[in-house]
Amino acid sequence: MSSLTTPITCRNFYAGTWHDGSGDVIERKNPATGELAAIAPRSQAGDVDAAVQAAAEAFRTWRKTLPAERAGYLHRLAEECGRRVDDMAAAITREQGKPLNEARGEVRKFVTALRYYAEEATRVFGRTIPNDVGGFLSIVQKEPIGPVAGIAPWNYPIELIGWKLAGATAAGCTIVIKPSEYTPGCAQILSECVQAALPAGVVNFVYGDGGTGQALVSHPKITKVGFTGSAATGQQIMRSVSGITALSLELGGSCPMIVTAKADLAAAVKGATRRSFRNAGQICIAINRIYVEQPVYDEFVSELAAAADALVVADGIKDPDADVGSMTIDETFQRTLDHIADARKRGASVVAGGDRIDELAPGLFVRPTVVADTPDDALVMSEETFGPLVGVAPFTDLDDVIARANGVPGGLAAYVYTQDTRETFALASDLDFGNVAVNNVDAGIINAPYGGRREAGFGYEHGPEGLESYLQLKHIRLHHGAR
Ligand code: NAD
Repeated sequence: MSSLTTPITCRNFYAGTWHDGSGDVIERKNPATGELAAIAPRSQAGDVDAAVQAAAEAFRTWRKTLPAERAGYLHRLAEECGRRVDDMAAAITREQGKPLNEARGEVRKFVTALRYYAEEATRVFGRTIPNDVGGFLSIVQKEPIGPVAGIAPWNYPIELIGWKLAGATAAGCTIVIKPSEYTPGCAQILSECVQAALPAGVVNFVYGDGGTGQALVSHPKITKVGFTGSAATGQQIMRSVSGITALSLELGGSCPMIVTAKADLAAAVKGATRRSFRNAGQICIAINRIYVEQPVYDEFVSELAAAADALVVADGIKDPDADVGSMTIDETFQRTLDHIADARKRGASVVAGGDRIDELAPGLFVRPTVVADTPDDALVMSEETFGPLVGVAPFTDLDDVIARANGVPGGLAAYVYTQDTRETFALASDLDFGNVAVNNVDAGIINAPYGGRREAGFGYEHGPEGLESYLQLKHIRLHHGAR
């Protein structure tokens, strides 16, 4: 296992080898301790151009590599990454903050995604279309779209790179990845695995901030941008890519959970605890707000508060099994405290947590916080907090609560707990979200499409759809003359 204390030095990786950047460097500090965790180039337009040229050059060969061969390469990459799980996990914990065992789980899920897309590579089929004129046949074939840009956030720094890397390369595309400026170190380790497993130029990395990302998405040789991040950046990218660049945007939102009086309450509390506080609530599909039917409201609130209080919050390197680690960046740490203050001001009661953990300062640790009797206009009930905070409110009418749940600009994931069949179908069908999980809180699985609605973005990752988005169609009209 690599050192838990030596900072990781990142270098841009393209054309199969590492290169210095031409700008200054970004220093990433461990948010739990303030210690230096990684150093990465703040890449400039020239660095980005070199990486894109490498991807464009490699595309000429990779697009013609047989699907079964591409599958073999991806399995090889899965093996390399499988060997480096501990290294990547330690890097994630040191720069992102989640507990080490949770980080290991993230890397293992990434390895599973690689293996899944290795197999999907061999299942890309076209179709034939009969013509109205004899002697002709139309063939529709799917072809890789070209060199793509993958822009990733920091909350699942390896997995969210991984979905793009695996889907794109399985489809026959090459990719230039820009990891988040807050989590470059784990990507450096991934680039080492890439070098050992894949032909040069197929997967490339450039480090940097939003300016680097901007240069990448607007590069004329980039044919598709796969972006995961905030709604604000997504909209900025939408405005800055050329109109002919394909785009998928996986953005954030405010995810509701509805618990009816007919739910298994213990299961609902367990689910709410996991999906509100895992990764310190820094998940695009984290539960932000919970609506509980009046007859079971008080019981649910007191049990959720007890469950939140019981969570172990600690430095994820020192305590690999902790439930909650440090938050990752100052901005969301402060926003979480602001949302707690706002809920208090609007009359909600804090029934668990409610403040930062002073004993762990300067680390960005916030106690898992539950605010009850939260009015709908509180920020926690309408905006994405992206921290360990959840708002709870009662409801009495199912149609009314569906309208409240849907009443936000983005629709990524919603959660339902009920054991009643009619309620299950009514809620599953009327919640206007790309993912609805009923009696569980794991809304995303690797072989089913995952995407948002409205301001949560468009396009899909996971499943065959996560590969299709890197393909384009070609119609070949053949005159063979046979009758
Ligand atoms: P962010 O938008 O600040 O940054 C994401 C990435 O975009 C970073 O790599 C950043 O450097 C880059 N970037 C910034 N400006 C850019 C520009 N103008 N052009 C190109 N790239 C640019 O997001 P974040 O704070 O890293 O991540 C948190 C957000 O991501 C949350 O809103 C969360 O909901 C969302 N998210 C969504 C999903 C999903 O699947 N829908 C998954 C995880 C996170």
